[in-house]
Amino acid sequence: MVESQSALCVACEQLNIAAEKLKLDPGIHEMLKHPKRSLIVSITIKMDNGEIGTFIGCRVQHNDARGPFKGGIRYHPNVSLDEVTALSMWMTWKCAVVDIPYGGAKGGVCCNPKEMSRGELERMTRRYTSLILDIIGPYRDVPAPDVYTDAQTMAWVMDTYSQFKGYSVPECVTGKPISVGGSEGRAEATSLGVVVCAREAAKNSGLKLKGATVAVQGFGNVGWNAAKIAYDMGCKIVAVSDSVGGIYCREGLNPYKVYEHKSKTGSVTKFKGCKNITNAELLETKCDILIPAALENQITKANANRIKAKIVSEGANGPTTPEADKALHEKGITLIPDILANSGGVTASYYEWVQNLTREHWTIEEVNRKLENKMVKAFNDVNKLARRERSDMRTAALMLGVGRVAEAIKTLGLWP
Ligand code: NAD
Repeated sequence: MVESQSALCVACEQLNIAAEKLKLDPGIHEMLKHPKRSLIVSITIKMDNGEIGTFIGCRVQHNDARGPFKGGIRYHPNVSLDEVTALSMWMTWKCAVVDIPYGGAKGGVCCNPKEMSRGELERMTRRYTSLILDIIGPYRDVPAPDVYTDAQTMAWVMDTYSQFKGYSVPECVTGKPISVGGSEGRAEATSLGVVVCAREAAKNSGLKLKGATVAVQGFGNVGWNAAKIAYDMGCKIVAVSDSVGGIYCREGLNPYKVYEHKSKTGSVTKFKGCKNITNAELLETKCDILIPAALENQITKANANRIKAKIVSEGANGPTTPEADKALHEKGITLIPDILANSGGVTASYYEWVQNLTREHWTIEEVNRKLENKMVKAFNDVNKLARRERSDMRTAALMLGVGRVAEAIKTLGLWP
């Protein structure tokens, strides 16, 4: 596994900021710096060429004071225990900010899914699930998709878990295909939340969403859906990117056509009528709304001063460092932090879990109505606190999330 301190350093620094503002009990602060449980597993599978492949994975459970652990599973060559720990901590705050009854967790496997066959991915997913089986479950820890995992991955997790139990347990995982108990709207939920938050921020600053220019970094589940939803709401998408690079078009591009192009060629780059740009250039594109929807550490001290967007709505987890937060705030840029902006995904996951537990299936209208109300309420809660504290929205969201978790810990008391 790659050892990278950065995401965890960022997460701990953010916790320190919130702890100081909240005058948090030092004992609770110390407790929240560390996950409750981390499990490292070695996943051994037969590769297509007959050789044995070994992949290192983990599941990190940060805190469950407010409810069962909840968080995605990431497949990426840079997955490290530190990164997954940071992501699990952000999940704890996120579930508290949007006020759903979950704690925070995350899982990851260090692998390159782009170089693996479907069969290898299925075997790796099933073996990984079997290795973490004792610590997951509908009332313990409920996984979901993240970078380079999708609804199919979740179906394999569900089937493996169910085979071990001897009966079907759809509520053990969320983000499943609809045919096996998935929820309407889950695939687009994170992005809907990201765009709804941007819309609310635009309203506050007198910016019209119709015709607003948007740049999106990352064209996976979150990025592509955010571009599509913003486009459908009347925004002009001027730039998008993926791991290969980005494209820019001043007149605006049609994300549906870019999606078709990426499906055929494997990348958004070289799209007709657009100029190829780098990911660094995409972030610095002149636009009204910037949506980072790829990985951590994208807006840093090095480029924060060159960001030209009026609003940044974080689809990705941890794309902005604390130093960059400060610089953007000083420049008057409204940044809607990840633990608020992308909380639509876990909120729809919660709705999927509720539907599974009650054996119901809600309509897309019902899911989206509930989701939008929840997102707008969370946005307003954070915004109100930011005004009261005269702080940026990240600090306010952290104060809200960490404060709610601390309150639950105090109420439960310590066992024994
Ligand atoms: P995904 O695997 O579907 O897409 C990731 C995208 O990022 C791909 O287009 C990939 O090409 C691009 N990418 C990878 N490396 C890049 C790089 N160095 N520069 C630019 N682009 C790069 O993943 P996703 O589910 O869309 O997740 C994206 C982000 O959103 C992650 O930070 C994830 O934690 C966060 N997130 C996802 C969800 C969800 O519901 N899927 C929910 C909340 C937050």
